[in-house]
Amino acid sequence: MSCGNPHQTPCTDVLHALILFIDGEIEDQRVSHAIEFHLSECPPCADEQMAEYRFRNLLSRSCAETAPQELRQRIASDLAVQSISWSQSITYTEISTDTFIQTHVEIRESYEQE
Ligand SMILES: [Zn+2]
Repeated sequence: MSCGNPHQTPCTDVLHALILFIDGEIEDQRVSHAIEFHLSECPPCADEQMAEYRFRNLLSRSCAETAPQELRQRIASDLAVQSISWSQSITYTEISTDTFIQTHVEIRESYEQE
């Protein structure tokens, strides 16, 4: 994953640090500036950054989603109970090697009679 142009910071370093960079967890200002600069001049790495943002956006949207009211009511009436408690768990696994980054997201929803 490289655009073929020489960079001050190698693409592999940038991609490895990308998650930390997006999270704002890089404390060394010189490092975060170097990454910022790299992203501005390296389209493939900038694409990776965009992909990560899109992924996060998707993830936060699914986190924010709750079961539709209608569905809750239907289940509540099926079970003849007044209250149902919903739980949602999200597992986010990332496997990263030098050649690829694989992400796996699993969202489980369950309900319980209170
Ligand atoms: Zn790059």
